[in-house]
Amino acid sequence: MLSVFSSPSRYTQGKNATESLGREMERLGLEGPVFIIAGTSARRELAATWKLTLGEAGFTYTVYAFRGECSVAEIARARREAEATKARVIVGAGGGKVLDTARAVAADMDLPVVNCPTLASSDSPCSALSVVYDEHGAFEKYLFYRRNPDLVLVDTAVIAKSPPRLLAAGMGDALATWFEARTCVGGNVRNMRGGGSTLSAAALARLCYDTLLADGVDALRAVENQVVTPALERLVEANTLLSGLGFESSGLAAAHAVHNGLTAIPDTHAMYHGEKVAYGLLVQLILEGQPRTELETVLDFLTRIGLPCTLAGIGIQDPTRAKLKAIAQRATAPGETIHNEPFEVTVDAVIDAVLAADAVGRVSRDSHPSPQ
Ligand SMILES: [Zn+2]
Repeated sequence: MLSVFSSPSRYTQGKNATESLGREMERLGLEGPVFIIAGTSARRELAATWKLTLGEAGFTYTVYAFRGECSVAEIARARREAEATKARVIVGAGGGKVLDTARAVAADMDLPVVNCPTLASSDSPCSALSVVYDEHGAFEKYLFYRRNPDLVLVDTAVIAKSPPRLLAAGMGDALATWFEARTCVGGNVRNMRGGGSTLSAAALARLCYDTLLADGVDALRAVENQVVTPALERLVEANTLLSGLGFESSGLAAAHAVHNGLTAIPDTHAMYHGEKVAYGLLVQLILEGQPRTELETVLDFLTRIGLPCTLAGIGIQDPTRAKLKAIAQRATAPGETIHNEPFEVTVDAVIDAVLAADAVGRVSRDSHPSPQ
C-alpha cells in the first residue's frame, strides 16, 4: 500500500482574511468569471468586501443565494446557473452545506474551488469529500472528489461572530481526529484517499488534539465575546486545517461511524455533526477498552466546553432497544469506518458501548454541574 497525503493547495487564515480573497486567488493563477455560492449570513457580512477585493484583482463575479440544503436538486440548480455565467472558478462561502454544495458543483464542472467557511464547526472545508444526507437528515453516503480545494480561506473575524455552540461542535469533531487517526495508523488501514497514513498526517492529528486541550476553553470564551485572540486563531486552525488533514490523510474509525449511526434516528437531528462525533468518540474509547485516565481527559474536556456526553445530551431521552439497534446497525453497516478498528465490531458490542458511554457521561456531567 502506498502512503497518500492529501491537502488543499493553499490555506489562508486570519482576521479580515476576506479582504485578501481576490489577491490570494490571483496568486494561485485562478481566472474568472467567479461564481460564489453563499449562505444568507455570508452574503450579509461579506458582500461589500467581495466587491472590493474581487474588483481590485480584476475578477467579475456572480453571487448565488444558497437555498439551505446540499441536495441533488440544489447542486443541479447551482450548476445550471454557474454554467450560464460561464464560471471558471467556484467559491463557496458559508457553513458546511454551502461548502459541500460548492465542492460538488466544482467537481461536476471540473473547475477549481475556493472554500471560505464562516463557521469553524467541522473538519470538512479542507477535504476532497462531501457528506450527503437524505431529505430527513440521515447520513446517506460520502461523495469523493478528485481534488482538494485550491484555496481554503478562513476569516477569523467572521468566525468570532459565529454562534459559540458551532465552534464547540467543531471541537467535538476535531477531538475525535487524533483517536481515529491513532486507530487507523495502528491497524495499518487505508485512509480516506485509499492510501496509508504518513508521519505528517499522524503528527498533525496529534497537534490537533493538543491544541484543543490547550486553547479550547479560551477560544470559546473569545467567540462568546466576539473577539479574535491568538487562542482563537490556533483553535480555528485545529478545527479546520489540522482536523481536516488528520482525518482525510490518516483515516476515520468508530467515532464517525457511530455519528452516522446516531443520524439513523430522528431524536438526534437537532444536534450538530461535531456534537454527535464527540459522543461517538466516547463510544470508540470504550469499545477499544482505552485506559480510564484517557477517557477522563476526554470527558473533562467535553464537560468544560459544554459538549454533550450523555444520550439525553444528544437528544435521546428514551434509549429503547429498537433505537439502540438502529444506531448500531447503521454504525456497523458494510464499508463503515468502524471496521477500521483492529477487532470485529458487532451490533451488540456497539449497543453495549453506547450505553456504557452514557453511564460514564452521566457521572462526569453530575460531577461538573455547570459547564466551565
Ligand atoms: Zn467530522
